[in-house]
Amino acid sequence: MQAATKKKVHNYSAGPCVLPQEVFEQAAQGVLDLDGSGLSILEISHRSKPFEAVMDKAQALVKELLDVPEGYSVLFLQGGASLGFHMTALNFLRPNGKAAYANTGEWAGRAIKDAQLEGTVEVVASSEDKNFSYIPKGFIIPSDADYFHFTSNNTIFGTQFKAFPKSPVPMVCDMSSDIFSRPVNVGDFAMIYAGAQKNMGPAGTTVYIVRNDALGRTGRKLSKILDLKNHADKGSMYNTPPVFAVYVSMLTLDWMKRMGGVAEMEQRNNAKAELLYGAVDRLPLFKGTTAVEDRSPMNATFVLEDSTLEPSFDAMWKEAGINGLRGHRSVGGYRASMYNALPIESVQVLVNVMEQFAKKHG
Ligand SMILES: *Cc1c(COP(=O)(O)O)cnc(C)c1O
Repeated sequence: MQAATKKKVHNYSAGPCVLPQEVFEQAAQGVLDLDGSGLSILEISHRSKPFEAVMDKAQALVKELLDVPEGYSVLFLQGGASLGFHMTALNFLRPNGKAAYANTGEWAGRAIKDAQLEGTVEVVASSEDKNFSYIPKGFIIPSDADYFHFTSNNTIFGTQFKAFPKSPVPMVCDMSSDIFSRPVNVGDFAMIYAGAQKNMGPAGTTVYIVRNDALGRTGRKLSKILDLKNHADKGSMYNTPPVFAVYVSMLTLDWMKRMGGVAEMEQRNNAKAELLYGAVDRLPLFKGTTAVEDRSPMNATFVLEDSTLEPSFDAMWKEAGINGLRGHRSVGGYRASMYNALPIESVQVLVNVMEQFAKKHG
């Protein structure tokens, strides 16, 4: 097969997002012939040996990269992190129980709404008063809650929990946009879930890392497809898994491992964040939109001091081959999503554009 030459683009998309070029090439090969089986990943049975090997490896890589303790299951399910909101309540909230939530942005708010369908929700911390521009700290999590839910990284607003809350009750975390970007102590959580398309792979699967003994305790009768205990008992193979998304996630996880694991990813991400936020702070035409100590290394949000200059800035970064820099429609301004696979060279290209722009208009 002739290798297609792709136009060089610096992809700052918030998700789906940049993945390693070598993963795209391996994935393309798997579509043609999965590991010499003579079958495409798209046609092979999910009960076949080659696909079982893919699923086993994907689960093992998650456990290895995050140092997952014994007693946890790794599941690759469908429905996006958005279904994870409702799954959390269905699987952890007793019908007469209460759940504690931190409201730190759009996704956290949606998780709260879904939990409210299933029981009582106490919002124990919120940054809504300042348009989610900071991470609340020092809040109290009630010890009679069934669980505490928070969002580790707020993709839209550009804030991140640098330190995780200490909770007297099981913690559930939506880590969609910063899983595998830094080491975490999985043992502190009853469940971590994350849509693949922000830092792990393509859209189409959501990873759930769940403590087995935390499942099946609400007394609810659930449809099998909504029951995490069922999925865990069946090794994430209760029904047809999203085979291609699991395959490409496995390839990306394997790439992370070859690169040195999540500690190395964290170093790279910090270097990229320092470079970009350095320019935002140094150049007077730009302004960050979040509290400095809560800035996300994954999604850097900023605005122009003079918004009438936006068309000029937009033309310059587009000219430089940059894609996906516009902020989320609910926030405006700009958002540079710098997931694991975005090379620091791409950040340098953006910083150069910002400097040129500052010279032109400063
Ligand atoms: C993108 C995102 C979601 C929604 O993910 P889907 O897979 O589109 O459902 C949820 N939470 C966070 C933190 C996200 O960044």
